[in-house]
Amino acid sequence: MYDELAAVELADALTCVRKLSPEATGPLSMLDEATLGWSWRYPQLAELQQAFAQARSRQWPHTRTEQTWQDVITTAEALAEALRELGDVRLARCTEPTGWGSCGRVLAEQGSPCTSQEHILPEAQSGAS
Ligand SMILES: [Zn+2]
Repeated sequence: MYDELAAVELADALTCVRKLSPEATGPLSMLDEATLGWSWRYPQLAELQQAFAQARSRQWPHTRTEQTWQDVITTAEALAEALRELGDVRLARCTEPTGWGSCGRVLAEQGSPCTSQEHILPEAQSGAS
């Protein structure tokens, strides 16, 4: 999963977008989601991430053209370049349990509190009301 990647690795994944088929919207969707976490943590990425998200949102069968595909590649590479500058860092993610697995929310830094309301609290697990 893209969630586990260091900044440089995610940058490589974005650079590889140009090798994908323009019809492969699944990987684009996952890259959009993965890079969104980075844009919360590193505000300098927010604008580039948003441009990529908008470009890929036009890449659906009824709206895509050669131009929308070029936009996806261009915005993905701009975002890749900014991510690469961060180097070999990974996002700190919350590991608390939730109803669907571990929380996974991006934390400001390792060990900082998570604001998610979705954690399974010890009293909820024992069935107390
Ligand atoms: Zn959490």
